[in-house]
Amino acid sequence: MKVLFIASALSLVGSCANIRHSQKIEILKDNIVFEDPQTVIKYSHTITPDELSVHVFTLASQNFEGRETGKAGFQKASKFLKDFYMDNGISSPLGTDNYYQRIPKSHFSKDSPSTQNIVAFIEGSEFPEEVIIISGHLDHLGVTEDGIFYGADDNASGSAALMEIAQAFSLAKEAGHGPKRSLLFLHLTAEESGLLGSSYYVKNPIYALENTVANLNIDMIGRIDKIHEEKQIDDYIYIIGADRISTELHYISEAANSQFTHLKLDYRYNEENESNRFYYRSDHYNFASRNIPIIFYFNGEHEDYHQPTDTAEKINFPLLQKRTQLIFSTAWYLANSKERLKVDKI
Ligand SMILES: [Zn+2]
Repeated sequence: MKVLFIASALSLVGSCANIRHSQKIEILKDNIVFEDPQTVIKYSHTITPDELSVHVFTLASQNFEGRETGKAGFQKASKFLKDFYMDNGISSPLGTDNYYQRIPKSHFSKDSPSTQNIVAFIEGSEFPEEVIIISGHLDHLGVTEDGIFYGADDNASGSAALMEIAQAFSLAKEAGHGPKRSLLFLHLTAEESGLLGSSYYVKNPIYALENTVANLNIDMIGRIDKIHEEKQIDDYIYIIGADRISTELHYISEAANSQFTHLKLDYRYNEENESNRFYYRSDHYNFASRNIPIIFYFNGEHEDYHQPTDTAEKINFPLLQKRTQLIFSTAWYLANSKERLKVDKI
Protein backbone atom coordinates (compact mmCIF):
# COMPACT_ATOMS: atom_id res chain seq x y z
CA MET A 1 0.00 0.00 0.00
CA LYS A 2 1.60 3.14 -1.15
CA VAL A 3 0.34 6.63 -0.77
CA LEU A 4 2.60 9.20 -2.25
CA PHE A 5 2.55 12.74 -1.00
CA ILE A 6 4.48 15.24 -3.01
CA ALA A 7 5.31 18.25 -0.92
CA SER A 8 6.59 20.63 -3.52
CA ALA A 9 7.58 24.23 -3.33
CA LEU A 10 6.47 25.00 -6.87
CA SER A 11 9.75 25.19 -8.73
CA LEU A 12 9.06 28.15 -11.03
CA VAL A 13 8.00 30.50 -8.31
CA GLY A 14 10.28 28.89 -5.77
CA SER A 15 13.40 29.96 -7.57
CA CYS A 16 13.32 33.28 -5.77
CA ALA A 17 14.93 32.70 -2.39
CA ASN A 18 13.37 35.77 -0.80
CA ILE A 19 9.80 34.57 -1.08
CA ARG A 20 8.35 31.94 1.23
CA HIS A 21 6.00 29.68 -0.58
CA SER A 22 3.32 27.56 0.94
CA GLN A 23 3.83 23.90 0.33
CA LYS A 24 1.29 22.09 -1.72
CA ILE A 25 0.28 18.61 -0.66
CA GLU A 26 -0.59 16.58 -3.69
CA ILE A 27 -2.44 13.39 -3.00
CA LEU A 28 -2.25 10.92 -5.82
CA LYS A 29 -5.28 8.74 -6.26
CA ASP A 30 -3.42 5.99 -8.10
CA ASN A 31 -1.01 5.46 -5.22
CA ILE A 32 -3.70 4.20 -2.89
CA VAL A 33 -3.15 0.48 -3.10
CA PHE A 34 -4.25 -2.29 -0.75
CA GLU A 35 -1.14 -4.28 0.12
CA ASP A 36 -2.83 -7.58 0.88
CA PRO A 37 -6.27 -7.58 -0.76
CA GLN A 38 -6.81 -11.31 -0.25
CA THR A 39 -6.68 -10.84 3.53
CA VAL A 40 -9.17 -7.96 3.33
CA ILE A 41 -11.48 -10.15 1.25
CA LYS A 42 -11.08 -13.11 3.59
CA TYR A 43 -12.17 -11.17 6.67
CA SER A 44 -14.83 -9.15 4.87
CA HIS A 45 -16.47 -12.53 4.16
CA THR A 46 -17.02 -13.00 7.90
CA ILE A 47 -19.59 -10.18 7.55
CA THR A 48 -22.64 -12.16 6.49
CA PRO A 49 -26.30 -11.37 5.76
CA ASP A 50 -27.31 -14.04 8.30
CA GLU A 51 -25.33 -12.55 11.18
CA LEU A 52 -26.41 -9.00 10.29
CA SER A 53 -29.98 -10.25 10.22
CA VAL A 54 -29.74 -11.81 13.69
CA HIS A 55 -28.36 -8.54 15.10
CA VAL A 56 -30.97 -6.32 13.40
CA PHE A 57 -33.90 -8.57 14.35
CA THR A 58 -32.69 -8.55 17.96
CA LEU A 59 -32.04 -4.80 18.21
CA ALA A 60 -35.30 -3.95 16.46
CA SER A 61 -37.37 -6.46 18.46
CA GLN A 62 -40.31 -5.68 20.72
CA ASN A 63 -38.09 -6.56 23.65
CA PHE A 64 -35.94 -3.45 23.12
CA GLU A 65 -38.96 -1.13 22.91
CA GLY A 66 -37.56 1.28 20.34
CA ARG A 67 -34.32 1.88 22.33
CA GLU A 68 -35.21 5.33 23.64
CA THR A 69 -32.30 6.99 25.41
CA GLY A 70 -32.34 6.25 29.11
CA LYS A 71 -35.31 3.88 28.98
CA ALA A 72 -35.34 0.17 29.83
CA GLY A 73 -35.22 -0.87 26.16
CA PHE A 74 -32.08 1.17 25.59
CA GLN A 75 -30.48 -0.40 28.66
CA LYS A 76 -31.32 -3.88 27.34
CA ALA A 77 -29.81 -3.01 23.97
CA SER A 78 -26.67 -1.67 25.70
CA LYS A 79 -26.31 -4.92 27.62
CA PHE A 80 -26.81 -6.89 24.40
CA LEU A 81 -23.87 -5.04 22.80
CA LYS A 82 -21.67 -5.43 25.86
CA ASP A 83 -22.35 -9.19 25.91
CA PHE A 84 -21.55 -9.43 22.20
CA TYR A 85 -18.16 -7.77 22.64
CA MET A 86 -17.33 -9.86 25.70
CA ASP A 87 -18.36 -13.09 23.96
CA ASN A 88 -16.15 -12.18 21.00
CA GLY A 89 -13.15 -11.35 23.19
CA ILE A 90 -13.18 -7.70 22.08
CA SER A 91 -11.99 -5.49 24.91
CA SER A 92 -13.24 -2.23 26.32
CA PRO A 93 -11.03 0.87 26.27
CA LEU A 94 -12.31 1.62 29.76
CA GLY A 95 -10.92 -1.59 31.21
CA THR A 96 -12.22 -4.98 32.37
CA ASP A 97 -15.94 -5.32 31.82
CA ASN A 98 -16.86 -1.64 31.73
CA TYR A 99 -18.12 -1.02 28.19
CA TYR A 100 -20.18 2.06 29.08
CA GLN A 101 -18.99 5.63 28.75
CA ARG A 102 -21.43 7.13 31.26
CA ILE A 103 -22.89 10.51 30.46
CA PRO A 104 -23.98 12.65 33.42
CA LYS A 105 -27.44 14.21 33.45
CA SER A 106 -25.81 17.65 33.36
CA HIS A 107 -24.91 17.09 29.69
CA PHE A 108 -28.59 17.21 28.75
CA SER A 109 -30.57 20.43 28.67
CA LYS A 110 -33.89 18.85 29.54
CA ASP A 111 -34.66 16.18 32.07
CA SER A 112 -33.10 12.94 30.94
CA PRO A 113 -32.09 9.86 32.82
CA SER A 114 -28.35 9.23 32.78
CA THR A 115 -27.25 7.17 29.82
CA GLN A 116 -24.13 5.92 28.09
CA ASN A 117 -22.23 5.39 24.89
CA ILE A 118 -21.16 1.77 24.46
CA VAL A 119 -17.50 1.36 23.51
CA ALA A 120 -15.25 -1.47 22.35
CA PHE A 121 -11.63 -1.35 21.30
CA ILE A 122 -9.03 -3.19 19.23
CA GLU A 123 -5.50 -1.96 19.88
CA GLY A 124 -3.15 -1.28 17.00
CA SER A 125 0.22 -3.00 16.83
CA GLU A 126 2.42 -0.21 15.39
CA PHE A 127 0.67 3.08 16.10
CA PRO A 128 -1.62 2.20 19.02
CA GLU A 129 -2.09 5.84 20.01
CA GLU A 130 -3.65 6.63 16.60
CA VAL A 131 -7.33 5.75 16.56
CA ILE A 132 -9.97 5.28 13.90
CA ILE A 133 -13.49 5.64 15.27
CA ILE A 134 -16.32 3.69 13.69
CA SER A 135 -19.63 4.92 15.05
CA GLY A 136 -23.38 4.53 14.83
CA HIS A 137 -26.15 5.58 17.14
CA LEU A 138 -27.97 2.92 19.12
CA ASP A 139 -30.90 5.00 20.34
CA HIS A 140 -34.22 5.49 18.56
CA LEU A 141 -37.63 6.96 19.34
CA GLY A 142 -39.04 4.47 21.85
CA VAL A 143 -42.77 3.95 22.30
CA THR A 144 -45.61 6.44 21.77
CA GLU A 145 -49.41 6.09 21.41
CA ASP A 146 -48.64 5.10 17.79
CA GLY A 147 -46.78 2.04 19.02
CA ILE A 148 -43.17 0.90 19.11
CA PHE A 149 -40.71 2.72 16.86
CA TYR A 150 -38.53 -0.28 16.05
CA GLY A 151 -35.82 1.65 14.21
CA ALA A 152 -34.60 -1.29 12.15
CA ASP A 153 -32.99 0.88 9.50
CA ASP A 154 -32.53 3.82 11.91
CA ASN A 155 -30.18 2.61 13.25
CA ALA A 156 -30.20 -1.10 14.08
CA SER A 157 -28.68 -1.47 10.59
CA GLY A 158 -25.67 0.67 11.51
CA SER A 159 -25.35 -0.89 14.96
CA ALA A 160 -25.27 -4.37 13.40
CA ALA A 161 -22.67 -3.17 10.87
CA LEU A 162 -20.42 -1.98 13.71
CA MET A 163 -20.71 -5.35 15.46
CA GLU A 164 -19.78 -7.26 12.32
CA ILE A 165 -16.88 -4.93 11.46
CA ALA A 166 -15.51 -5.30 14.99
CA GLN A 167 -15.80 -9.06 14.77
CA ALA A 168 -14.04 -9.15 11.39
CA PHE A 169 -11.11 -7.08 12.71
CA SER A 170 -10.98 -9.23 15.83
CA LEU A 171 -10.88 -12.50 13.86
CA ALA A 172 -8.14 -11.03 11.66
CA LYS A 173 -6.14 -10.03 14.73
CA GLU A 174 -6.45 -13.52 16.25
CA ALA A 175 -4.96 -14.93 13.04
CA GLY A 176 -2.02 -12.51 13.11
CA HIS A 177 -3.48 -9.77 10.91
CA GLY A 178 -4.19 -7.19 13.59
CA PRO A 179 -4.48 -3.52 12.60
CA LYS A 180 -1.46 -1.22 12.87
CA ARG A 181 -3.63 1.57 14.26
CA SER A 182 -6.29 1.22 16.94
CA LEU A 183 -10.01 0.96 16.28
CA LEU A 184 -12.70 2.31 18.57
CA PHE A 185 -16.25 1.03 18.06
CA LEU A 186 -18.57 3.72 19.37
CA HIS A 187 -22.29 3.02 19.78
CA LEU A 188 -23.74 6.42 20.52
CA THR A 189 -26.67 7.37 22.70
CA ALA A 190 -29.06 10.33 22.33
CA GLU A 191 -28.52 10.96 18.62
CA GLU A 192 -32.22 11.44 18.02
CA SER A 193 -32.36 14.13 20.70
CA GLY A 194 -29.61 16.26 19.16
CA LEU A 195 -26.38 14.30 18.58
CA LEU A 196 -25.77 14.39 22.34
CA GLY A 197 -23.84 11.14 22.72
CA SER A 198 -21.28 12.27 20.16
CA SER A 199 -21.13 15.83 21.52
CA TYR A 200 -20.31 14.29 24.91
CA TYR A 201 -17.66 12.06 23.37
CA VAL A 202 -15.80 14.91 21.63
CA LYS A 203 -15.82 16.92 24.88
CA ASN A 204 -14.69 13.87 26.86
CA PRO A 205 -12.73 11.77 24.38
CA ILE A 206 -11.37 8.42 25.54
CA TYR A 207 -8.41 8.94 23.20
CA ALA A 208 -7.06 12.40 22.40
CA LEU A 209 -8.84 14.02 19.46
CA GLU A 210 -5.50 15.04 17.88
CA ASN A 211 -4.73 11.31 17.60
CA THR A 212 -8.14 10.52 16.15
CA VAL A 213 -7.37 9.77 12.52
CA ALA A 214 -10.92 9.63 11.14
CA ASN A 215 -14.53 8.88 12.00
CA LEU A 216 -16.61 6.56 9.84
CA ASN A 217 -20.21 7.10 10.91
CA ILE A 218 -23.06 4.80 9.94
CA ASP A 219 -26.68 5.89 10.18
CA MET A 220 -29.29 3.95 8.14
CA ILE A 221 -27.69 1.58 5.61
CA GLY A 222 -30.22 -1.26 5.31
CA ARG A 223 -32.81 0.10 2.89
CA ILE A 224 -33.32 1.63 -0.55
CA ASP A 225 -34.74 5.15 -0.87
CA LYS A 226 -37.42 6.30 -3.33
CA ILE A 227 -34.92 7.90 -5.70
CA HIS A 228 -33.18 4.60 -6.28
CA GLU A 229 -36.29 2.46 -6.07
CA GLU A 230 -37.78 4.38 -9.00
CA LYS A 231 -34.63 3.90 -11.03
CA GLN A 232 -34.47 0.25 -9.95
CA ILE A 233 -30.96 0.74 -8.65
CA ASP A 234 -30.26 -1.01 -5.39
CA ASP A 235 -26.47 -1.32 -5.24
CA TYR A 236 -25.78 2.21 -4.02
CA ILE A 237 -24.81 4.15 -0.92
CA TYR A 238 -24.73 7.88 -0.26
CA ILE A 239 -21.25 9.05 0.70
CA ILE A 240 -21.35 12.33 2.56
CA GLY A 241 -18.44 14.46 3.77
CA ALA A 242 -15.54 12.23 2.67
CA ASP A 243 -13.67 14.98 0.78
CA ARG A 244 -14.44 17.93 3.02
CA ILE A 245 -11.44 17.68 5.34
CA SER A 246 -9.20 15.10 3.68
CA THR A 247 -8.98 14.62 -0.09
CA GLU A 248 -7.11 11.42 0.61
CA LEU A 249 -10.05 9.97 2.54
CA HIS A 250 -12.30 10.44 -0.47
CA TYR A 251 -9.78 8.61 -2.66
CA ILE A 252 -9.39 5.79 -0.13
CA SER A 253 -13.16 5.33 -0.01
CA GLU A 254 -13.31 5.17 -3.82
CA ALA A 255 -10.34 2.78 -4.00
CA ALA A 256 -11.91 0.45 -1.42
CA ASN A 257 -15.15 0.42 -3.37
CA SER A 258 -13.61 -0.15 -6.79
CA GLN A 259 -11.42 -2.93 -5.47
CA PHE A 260 -13.92 -4.80 -3.30
CA THR A 261 -17.59 -3.80 -3.33
CA HIS A 262 -18.46 -2.04 -6.62
CA LEU A 263 -21.37 -0.09 -5.19
CA LYS A 264 -22.61 3.05 -6.90
CA LEU A 265 -21.28 5.82 -4.68
CA ASP A 266 -23.85 8.59 -4.78
CA TYR A 267 -22.52 12.04 -3.85
CA ARG A 268 -25.63 14.16 -4.37
CA TYR A 269 -26.04 14.85 -0.64
CA ASN A 270 -22.43 15.94 -0.36
CA GLU A 271 -23.09 19.14 -2.32
CA GLU A 272 -22.23 22.22 -0.23
CA ASN A 273 -25.66 23.84 -0.38
CA GLU A 274 -27.74 20.68 -0.46
CA SER A 275 -31.08 21.50 1.12
CA ASN A 276 -31.38 18.38 3.33
CA ARG A 277 -28.12 19.29 5.08
CA PHE A 278 -27.44 15.64 5.98
CA TYR A 279 -23.79 16.55 6.57
CA TYR A 280 -24.89 18.33 9.74
CA ARG A 281 -27.50 15.80 10.83
CA SER A 282 -25.78 12.81 12.30
CA ASP A 283 -23.04 12.16 14.82
CA HIS A 284 -20.06 12.51 12.47
CA TYR A 285 -20.66 16.26 12.44
CA ASN A 286 -19.36 16.59 15.99
CA PHE A 287 -16.08 15.07 14.78
CA ALA A 288 -15.98 17.10 11.55
CA SER A 289 -16.44 20.32 13.52
CA ARG A 290 -13.20 19.38 15.34
CA ASN A 291 -11.41 18.98 11.97
CA ILE A 292 -11.40 15.20 12.12
CA PRO A 293 -11.99 13.69 8.66
CA ILE A 294 -15.29 11.85 8.47
CA ILE A 295 -17.44 9.76 6.16
CA PHE A 296 -21.15 9.53 6.70
CA TYR A 297 -22.72 6.37 5.20
CA PHE A 298 -26.43 6.67 4.53
CA ASN A 299 -29.16 5.09 2.39
CA GLY A 300 -31.44 8.14 2.24
CA GLU A 301 -34.95 8.55 3.57
CA HIS A 302 -37.90 6.31 2.80
CA GLU A 303 -41.57 6.06 3.71
CA ASP A 304 -40.82 4.25 6.99
CA TYR A 305 -38.29 6.85 8.17
CA HIS A 306 -39.16 7.75 11.79
CA GLN A 307 -42.32 5.62 11.64
CA PRO A 308 -43.31 2.53 13.66
CA THR A 309 -43.16 0.69 10.32
CA ASP A 310 -39.32 0.83 10.18
CA THR A 311 -39.13 -2.90 10.87
CA ALA A 312 -36.51 -5.60 10.49
CA GLU A 313 -38.14 -7.70 7.74
CA LYS A 314 -37.89 -4.69 5.38
CA ILE A 315 -34.09 -4.62 5.59
CA ASN A 316 -32.19 -5.77 2.50
CA PHE A 317 -29.57 -7.95 4.20
CA PRO A 318 -27.35 -8.75 1.17
CA LEU A 319 -27.18 -5.00 0.50
CA LEU A 320 -26.48 -4.29 4.18
CA GLN A 321 -23.64 -6.81 3.92
CA LYS A 322 -22.11 -5.11 0.90
CA ARG A 323 -22.31 -1.64 2.42
CA THR A 324 -20.79 -2.95 5.66
CA GLN A 325 -17.97 -4.56 3.68
CA LEU A 326 -17.23 -1.19 2.03
CA ILE A 327 -16.89 0.44 5.45
CA PHE A 328 -14.77 -2.47 6.70
CA SER A 329 -12.31 -2.24 3.79
CA THR A 330 -12.08 1.55 4.11
CA ALA A 331 -11.35 1.19 7.83
CA TRP A 332 -8.81 -1.53 7.03
CA TYR A 333 -6.86 0.86 4.82
CA LEU A 334 -6.98 3.68 7.37
CA ALA A 335 -5.79 1.32 10.11
CA ASN A 336 -2.98 -0.26 8.10
CA SER A 337 -1.53 2.42 5.80
CA LYS A 338 2.14 3.24 6.28
CA GLU A 339 1.35 6.87 6.90
CA ARG A 340 -1.49 8.41 8.80
CA LEU A 341 -4.34 9.91 6.77
CA LYS A 342 -3.52 13.45 5.63
CA VAL A 343 -5.73 16.42 6.43
CA ASP A 344 -5.46 19.03 3.68
CA LYS A 345 -8.60 21.14 3.87
CA ILE A 346 -8.97 22.84 7.23
ZN1 LIG B 1 -30.46 7.77 12.71
